[in-house]
Amino acid sequence: MEMPVPNAAILGRKYQIVQRLQAVLPAEAVIFEPVETRAYECDALTAYRCPPMVAVLPTSTEQVAAVLKICFEEGVPVVPRGSGTSLAGGALPTADCVILGVSRLNRVLETDYDNRFIRVQSGRTNLSVTGAVEEMDFFYAPDPSSQLACAIAGNVAMNSGGAHCLKYGVTTNNLLGVTMVLMDGTVIELGGAHLDAAGLDLLGVVCGSEGQLGVVTEATLRILHKPEGARPVLMGFDTNEAAGACVSDIIKAGVLPVAIEFMDRPCIRATEAFAHAGYPDVEALLIIEVEGSGAEIDSQLAKIIAISAAHNPVEVRESKSPDESARIWAGRKAAFGAMGQINDYMCLDGTIPVTQLPFVLRRIGELSRQYGLDVGNVFHAGDGNMHPLILFDANKPGDLELCEAMGADILKLCVEVGGCLTGEHGVGVEKRDLMLTQYTAADIDAQLAVKDVFDPAWLLNPAKVFPLKTTETRRAA
Ligand SMILES: Cc1cc2nc3c(=O)[nH]c(=O)nc-3n(C[C@H](O)[C@H](O)[C@H](O)COP(=O)(O)OP(=O)(O)OC[C@H]3O[C@@H](n4cnc5c(N)ncnc54)[C@H](O)[C@@H]3O)c2cc1C
Repeated sequence: MEMPVPNAAILGRKYQIVQRLQAVLPAEAVIFEPVETRAYECDALTAYRCPPMVAVLPTSTEQVAAVLKICFEEGVPVVPRGSGTSLAGGALPTADCVILGVSRLNRVLETDYDNRFIRVQSGRTNLSVTGAVEEMDFFYAPDPSSQLACAIAGNVAMNSGGAHCLKYGVTTNNLLGVTMVLMDGTVIELGGAHLDAAGLDLLGVVCGSEGQLGVVTEATLRILHKPEGARPVLMGFDTNEAAGACVSDIIKAGVLPVAIEFMDRPCIRATEAFAHAGYPDVEALLIIEVEGSGAEIDSQLAKIIAISAAHNPVEVRESKSPDESARIWAGRKAAFGAMGQINDYMCLDGTIPVTQLPFVLRRIGELSRQYGLDVGNVFHAGDGNMHPLILFDANKPGDLELCEAMGADILKLCVEVGGCLTGEHGVGVEKRDLMLTQYTAADIDAQLAVKDVFDPAWLLNPAKVFPLKTTETRRAA
């Protein structure tokens, strides 16, 4: 993967820049010794690493504005960072950048149960948003598997989703407003504590913009009443195709579970060895969860089980207790970690129409044999959001490149069948150079024009999202 050449003039002024940052932040919030900046050299896409020049950890919108103003005046690139769990290299530094970490912006600012919203600083972790409201029986719906660690800032930037987004939508469907600081230090408010806002939908533009337009410091989020109850059913199949076709039929029948999750045999085996969730040893497994009153749950599950019968499941296990439900989900949530125990992996994130699941799973199997790399599939099947995990050995020369080539083939396949390059992990550096397989040059140009307006100096989160060539021309202009 190609990265921009660091700007030697900026690196030569490192200590002058550090001094200016120390004037607006406490000393311990400015990290510049190489041994310490290495902590920020990568995110969860660990195949790519580059220590930043400096990292800063502000605690307020005012401090973020002061940092950005200095970087703007000095012409220093800035990479915003939440918790660093991006799987697309979205928070990967450049050697001449300042990492602006928001992890210390983690306070709850306002909770309004009557109007169903919470306002938090953006570094607050996803799960702790629900933690702040659950005693009143509320929750925040988007639930990335990384929710214990990932920050609302990263969720907004990547428009993150999760297992339960089939029913509740992804971040953009649960985000009401943000406070954002532009690269020159100007603070703006978008949206608010209400549904929709007058004027252009700039909140929609910012959600999913991957740190390209500004640094989000606060977010107003919709909170929901907890459902009366929820219950998963686990189904085992002896082919991936049968499980894929079952998902497609459930969606076609108009039943709306909160979640339909898919795991194939390599993932099931790895997870079982790691999390001991009691999964059956089958070719493919679905976890389907429904919510509502006891009667609603019974009736929805009865419909789902009836639909599945046409696909000959070898096992149908309806959860009988909260403990059993927790065990079923514990396995799914541990799946990525379990695969990581076997080898290094690259986690892809393409979205396809659900009717294409059987075909795409078959093609991924063929590509796995062609490249000689094992693949495990674990994903949000209900909304067609696939996560093939390609196993490779980072210490074996050529393996990473092989894995990248295979990943590119799978993502192109997603586009070919009518899907897209990313469902929830974003483009980052990982899919940057594939953007032209989905968009025409004119489409990309329209996106670059938006970036031009928010960040005319092109200093925010360089070398991400857009093919490198297109941004280099723009930056030089
Ligand atoms: C084990 C595992 C499971 C995962 N499961 C899921 C899943 O189910 N669903 C899902 O959607 N994702 C998942 N992810 C990916 C990742 O957790 C999400 O993309 C998450 O939203 C990233 O949040 P973060 O705080 O770690 O952001 P970071 O990794 O720090 O940054 C992500 C992006 O956000 C930008 N950014 C960070 N802070 C700001 C800010 N204040 N203002 C503007 N831009 C900012 C960064 O520049 C970068 O482009 C998973 C990751 C792991 C490691």
